[in-house]
Amino acid sequence: MEKITLNNGVNIPSVGVGVFRVEDAQVAYETVKLALSVGYRHIDTAMIYGNEEAVGKAMKDSGIAREEIFLTTKLWNDDQRSGKVAEAIEASLKRLGTDYVDLYLVHWPVKETYKNVWKKMEEVYKSGKAKAIGVSNYQPHHLDDLLQIAEVIPAVDQIECYPYLSQEAVIAYCKGKGIYPEAWGPLGAGKTDILVNPIITGIATTHGKSAAQVILRWNLQRGVIVIPKSIHEARLVENLSVTDFTLTAKQMEEISKLDKNLRLGSHPDNFNF
Ligand code: NDP
Repeated sequence: MEKITLNNGVNIPSVGVGVFRVEDAQVAYETVKLALSVGYRHIDTAMIYGNEEAVGKAMKDSGIAREEIFLTTKLWNDDQRSGKVAEAIEASLKRLGTDYVDLYLVHWPVKETYKNVWKKMEEVYKSGKAKAIGVSNYQPHHLDDLLQIAEVIPAVDQIECYPYLSQEAVIAYCKGKGIYPEAWGPLGAGKTDILVNPIITGIATTHGKSAAQVILRWNLQRGVIVIPKSIHEARLVENLSVTDFTLTAKQMEEISKLDKNLRLGSHPDNFNF
């Protein structure tokens, strides 16, 4: 399992499994157990996904030592608005059945609070309840504001990112500041034709790989962590088998050219939750 070192020295596996929209507790439990059994050591959840308890139970029942698993959860927007960050991480830890997470992310840049919330995230970091802290869905202008008051530089910015939304500007900005970009919805969240796009499938054929593997590889090769979600064993295995081939510079460019700024989720400057 390839690992990346974040700006505070913490190591994160470059491929993780996401569990958004896996609300059913049994399915979430089985998915995480399956993922761990096929080799995943990085799990991405959030308070709002409603499955932290199932994730924690699966981790425990897997028999794998806690310190071998990289666990991310996120601070939901309502807890930002209420200012109850310490309470929110405490509640997440209780549901997860652990005394720390590896990465705690501010889920969205809530307009009224995103500048001030970071001080409270730094307190969480100093308490040891999160080994690293970061943000999600932050645009460069949000990060510019945050960095003016930050003592701790965010370790990660988790953003929507797949070939039709290549996010080159945000990625370049993050890299310039030592913030590691992480892609959510890396497979297009089952909402686009990216997995049957002929450029992608053509490249996949030349490597004897699937379209999903090619687009995950594209992000990894440009220095972006990926957290694809699947509840199926064969796909979990497929999505993890992306470090044994290399895309050529031409193939990387062909994929990057597919960008059409097609956002499938909400815009970070305009969301209503
Ligand atoms: P993904 O891009 O990971 O796509 C998931 C979809 O693709 C599912 O329908 C899945 O189906 C299918 N799929 C998975 N693997 C394959 C494969 N190899 N071939 C074909 N289809 C496949 O979307 P997500 O939105 O789930 O994003 C990933 C993770 O990112 C989330 O689970 C969550 O942890 C995080 N996230 C973070 C957000 C944020 O605001 N920070 C927002 C949204 C997501 P099936 O399960 O049936 O296999």
